[in-house]
Amino acid sequence: MAHLLITGGAGFIGSHTALVLLQGGHSLVVLDNFSNSSPEALRRVAELAGLDHDSARLQVIAGDIRSPADLDRALGAAAPGGERVAGVIHFAGLKAVGESVQQPLRYWDVNVNGSRLLVEAMQRHGCRTLVFSSTSTVYGEPQRFPISETCATDPRHPYAQTKLAVEWMLQALETSETGWCIGRLRYFNPVGAHPSGRIGENPLGVPNNLFPFITQVASGQRPLLRIFGDDWPTPDGTGIRDYLHVMDLAEAHGLALDWLMQHQRSLPVLNLGTGRGLSVLEVVQAFETATGRTIPRELVGRRHGDVARLEGCPRLAASTLGWRASRNLEQMCRDGWTWQNANPRGYGG
Ligand code: NAD
Ligand code: UDP
Repeated sequence: MAHLLITGGAGFIGSHTALVLLQGGHSLVVLDNFSNSSPEALRRVAELAGLDHDSARLQVIAGDIRSPADLDRALGAAAPGGERVAGVIHFAGLKAVGESVQQPLRYWDVNVNGSRLLVEAMQRHGCRTLVFSSTSTVYGEPQRFPISETCATDPRHPYAQTKLAVEWMLQALETSETGWCIGRLRYFNPVGAHPSGRIGENPLGVPNNLFPFITQVASGQRPLLRIFGDDWPTPDGTGIRDYLHVMDLAEAHGLALDWLMQHQRSLPVLNLGTGRGLSVLEVVQAFETATGRTIPRELVGRRHGDVARLEGCPRLAASTLGWRASRNLEQMCRDGWTWQNANPRGYGG
């Protein structure tokens, strides 16, 4: 069992990962500035993990990854038994593609500068084990499927560019200095929620992503889903993505950390997806079947910057970590709907 720092641990993927790690016996420090999340998520994580409300196994620090003082506080926070932080999972960052085009400097500041300050703080504290959240959008618009990790990268917007820049920075760091054990994980499209419906995705304002938009239409908060294009070069003309259950993704982080601590070297870059792409229409139909709700929809033009298809080859993650996404589309729909139905206003409800 280890004492770990999770940056961005109150967010969508971070909160589910925090729960998996607590249930695995680890103790955690979460550093989050709550710019896109709520402390309530962590209160519920503690409840699901069966912790007392003042348990020292989950310490929460409201702070910013761009503040060396906040990073020192987080990395200096010892476990209940006095252990020091042995590894970091770095989720904190900005993730909206459209916003990154409007505000590129903000994305470079939070995603790249924030990551640089984090690894510098890790050097100060003698902690050199790190798992970094990267993204499948670094591949741009590939022509061969499923996408393997050897496929060329072609990041087309500031969000993907900042994520790839951090991957490169981490690669240079481990080349320049021995002792670093780094995992760079390229996620495809995480969706769904913990099956309890107590934690889930909590988008502020109008969701950009398909899944939260569908669940908000199902609950009557939005009148209809706009399907962005039916003229893509795909079998039904709608865009294809590789959706994976957020609990599968959370479990992959536990395995990646175990691997780094056991092997004491870096992981190869890993794709985390199911290997099976689904079209927008397939997702909508599966959601209707799984939940019994009807999703009114209209076809509109393509969304600027979209690509036809993203579908990741999960073979390297399977052979390296022994990880495979095990939950199917029906579970993603059901669990996402349970969360939305129980929390129509997210954590603010
Ligand atoms: P999220 O926005 O729900 O979580 C990010 C968390 O980081 C939030 O709690 C936010 O408050 C916090 N944060 C943001 N800036 C911060 C700062 N400067 N200092 C401290 N905390 C800060 O996002 P998520 O969906 O959980 O994604 C987690 C990570 O995974 C992100 O780095 C994202 O780019 C990456 N990722 C997400 C997806 C996806 O589809 N959700 C796909 C690929 C990669
Ligand atoms: N999409 C859609 N309507 C929406 C949101 C998304 O038709 O309101 C489509 C989008 O064009 C893409 C797929 O759903 O083909 C997944 O989009 P999302 O934004 O969730 O993921 P990303 O494109 O970032 O991989």
